[in-house]
Amino acid sequence: MDVDAVVIGAGFAGLYMLHELRARGFSARVLEAGSDVGGTWYWNRYPGARCDIESVDYSYSFSESLQQEWEWSERYSAQPEILRYLSHVADRFDLRRDITFDARVTAAHFDEGAACWTVHAPGLPPLVSRFCIMATGCLSVPQVPALPGLGDFHGPVHHTGNWPESDVDFSGRAVGVIGTGSSGIQSIPVIARQAARLTVFQRTPNFSVPAFNGPLDPDEFREVKARYRERREANRASSGGVDRATNEQNTFDVDEDQRLHEFESRWGRGGFHLLGSYADIMVDQRANDEVAEFVRGKIREVVHDPATAEALLPRGHPLGSKRVCVDTGYFEAYNQDHVTLVDLRRSPLETITARGVRAGGVEHELDSLVLATGFDAMTGALDRIDVRGRDGCELAEAWSGGPATYLGLGVAGFPNMFVLAGPGSPSVLTNMVTSIEQHVQWTAGCVDHLRRNGYRSIEATEQAQHDWVEHVRELAAETLFPKAASWYLGANVPGKQQVFMPYVGGLDLYEETCDAVAANDYRGFDLK
Ligand code: NAP
Repeated sequence: MDVDAVVIGAGFAGLYMLHELRARGFSARVLEAGSDVGGTWYWNRYPGARCDIESVDYSYSFSESLQQEWEWSERYSAQPEILRYLSHVADRFDLRRDITFDARVTAAHFDEGAACWTVHAPGLPPLVSRFCIMATGCLSVPQVPALPGLGDFHGPVHHTGNWPESDVDFSGRAVGVIGTGSSGIQSIPVIARQAARLTVFQRTPNFSVPAFNGPLDPDEFREVKARYRERREANRASSGGVDRATNEQNTFDVDEDQRLHEFESRWGRGGFHLLGSYADIMVDQRANDEVAEFVRGKIREVVHDPATAEALLPRGHPLGSKRVCVDTGYFEAYNQDHVTLVDLRRSPLETITARGVRAGGVEHELDSLVLATGFDAMTGALDRIDVRGRDGCELAEAWSGGPATYLGLGVAGFPNMFVLAGPGSPSVLTNMVTSIEQHVQWTAGCVDHLRRNGYRSIEATEQAQHDWVEHVRELAAETLFPKAASWYLGANVPGKQQVFMPYVGGLDLYEETCDAVAANDYRGFDLK
């Protein structure tokens, strides 16, 4: 055995997992495909990349001194600052000596006789460990659509999720952006400031709320730090991993004036606060229509040209059923003469040409192309590793009908493998960092339990996994989430099995469930 645990990925999850394992006296090695720490914040360097959760919450809580000493400069941090933070964490806790960079894991195989994993990355000797911990991220495999002619385009093409480290200069250039999800919506206003011309190709308009970002007020930050522990506890005890003081009332418990007042006041606070307006927004279509119409009204107010405004209005999916975007000047960007919206529903994208993009019979000439086209989410990274469990069973095969996990943490047939913040857990529906901390602590506690009690392996039972998958599906079916063709469902990747992947029950309830499982001698897992 080379180490007790191999951790795959050195983003928020992998870094903390390493720290927590070490703290409990386990040896571990992290294998990271990138050349440095950061995970999603290492790869997503596109202009405007920024967190959509406030930095004081989108950060680790596990170390009081870390959270006291770190200074965030803005309410919503930009990618370079988050990357600096993660780099600081790696140095401060001396994590780098147990991380191998430029190590893209291609295979992980379980040996039942020895109850251990062998993990392969090209150019490195295979690593043998008792545990294999997947910290591979939910949004780490860029999805490049099969656009005809893409290879013929004469200029540079960049995907937001795999942005070059060197500066990309759009000054004086005609730039095209395909995609209007969070990545597109963040990058468009920033690219518009540089480019001579910007053409946005939009297939589905999205709901976006302003961040009202700005420098963090030092007094406010001091106040946060003085009560950080309580704030973190409230986040952890909330359903979304960040305490937004969700209104317990339902939308139609109040009259229209009161409703509008609530929407306005939450809108004014910026970001996801609007989502906490009423308790029934994600379960009652009529309630959702109210808040959706409020947002559409805001878009109409901002965008001067009525035809452009109309094309930007999100319709046909409930607000929140696709991740709501948090922007800085997105809709305002369309008021500039050099920014053009092409509505692909009216003018379908026909082909990429050598000179640009042809849509609805018109060729839009471009110098550079940006693909803000999303990710093979939640399962993409794991599907790309040849993971084999007991009896050589393949994870990609086991998940061909959609990912099946127990608690999102364990997979039947794959003993001693843990998945951090992946499918079947609240993960992407919450503040990821809060969810990651919960998963890391549970996993470390589990591994500790196995060692203390002399167990060599742990594996989710088929029955427990089946019941959990059903439970996750049933909960989602009670909400509006499955009504959108979203990446939560895998709908953005042609041929991917469409299953609603995250657990919608909330982090608070989820953590109670995980803790009850642990307290009952890991009920639903086989310990050997
Ligand atoms: P996304 O939400 O999946 O958006 C992809 C966009 O590309 C959509 O507008 C999609 O249109 C479009 N698209 C895909 N294929 C296309 C094609 N063949 N032709 C035309 N348009 C096409 O991806 P994302 O914006 O990268 O965001 C993914 C997730 O990452 C977010 O939901 C969020 O969770 C996370 N994220 C977070 C932040 C943040 O913290 N601030 C920033 C960026 C991303 P359709 O909708 O019609 O498919």
